Amino acid sequence: MRTYVAEKEALIANIQIIQRQADGVPVWAVVKGGGYGLGAVPLARLLRDQGITRFCVTEVSEARALREAGFADERILMLQPTTDRAVLEALLDLNVICTISTQDGAVALNGIAAGRDMVAEAHVKLDTGMGRYGFRPEEFNQIAAIYQYMDHIAVSGIYTHFSSAFCSEKRTREQFEQFQILLDKLAGRGYETGEAHCCNSAALFRWPEMRMNGVRVGSALLGRLSAKGNFGLRRVGCCETAVTELHRLSKGGSTGYGGAWRARKETRLAILPVGWYHGFGTEYGRDSFRFRDCVRGTLSLLKAWLTKRRLYVRVNGQRCPVRGHVGMLHCAVDVSKIECHTGDQAVLDISPLMQKGMEVVFR
Ligand SMILES: *Cc1c(COP(=O)(O)O)cnc(C)c1O
Repeated sequence: MRTYVAEKEALIANIQIIQRQADGVPVWAVVKGGGYGLGAVPLARLLRDQGITRFCVTEVSEARALREAGFADERILMLQPTTDRAVLEALLDLNVICTISTQDGAVALNGIAAGRDMVAEAHVKLDTGMGRYGFRPEEFNQIAAIYQYMDHIAVSGIYTHFSSAFCSEKRTREQFEQFQILLDKLAGRGYETGEAHCCNSAALFRWPEMRMNGVRVGSALLGRLSAKGNFGLRRVGCCETAVTELHRLSKGGSTGYGGAWRARKETRLAILPVGWYHGFGTEYGRDSFRFRDCVRGTLSLLKAWLTKRRLYVRVNGQRCPVRGHVGMLHCAVDVSKIECHTGDQAVLDISPLMQKGMEVVFR
């Protein structure tokens, strides 16, 4: 009925661009959120074929799936910090690098590793402005205590996460500087901080000089950065389906809920079994972070309306406008101007992160 296609060739091209941009620094492929919607394991397989050996996850289940799929020696970094004993035990069982972002987390991990008579590998996370996970700069003594006193933790890396790489150079540079200050302070005390990393996709492409000892890249793999410009990356992911029915509207007839669209002349509609439930058309009006984003969002909606920017679908390779509201499971596409039959192919642009209820194939 419908298939979500991840184009291998585009993914491989993107990986090569990312590796070139990383310029020899290790790439940590972020496969959280079920591999950004494509499946952590199939995505990781393709990445491994291209030489990627480091992965970041946010769920124990993702780490387990990778290990069980034969990713025995690859390094896996858990980005999600925790103090939960069962989760930490599972991560150690899976030989995953844990993230320490609080003193409680450090104590918990150190205690569990001591109980197992082992040394747990971890990366320390610093909050330089994201305001979410991580030690804050004023908690320096707690950070130092990990290096000084936690004998059952081997810290092999340290990182921070940018809040605004997609939208603010100023804020990103401030975060980067804060990170440097903390690293210098730790080095000044003689602590080995290991691999330092801060770049996400947008930062790697906008300020490659910040690549340090590693970069953590997710959305760039899919060629779907939230930053302006696509840096030569190809958009990955589309939905393929077939026209289920053709429907003739006479002049003045309407289609879809609310009768929101009326035909000014006789119109031929192709009905497709894809709707907002599958993620189609749901990217409109997202990302209202700040007041000015809201204003901008509203202006772009207004502009879209004034310039009649519409949702489009490719039917038999030709761009056709969607008519009326997208339904939960269906939409209607205007095929008045093209040759179209029941069963013909339709291709819809849906972000892999938004897609749902479809089989994902790599092809
Ligand atoms: C999701 C995530 C990334 C990857 O971000 P992209 O913008 O998708 O490249 C990197 N680091 C952390 C901590 C993340 O949570």
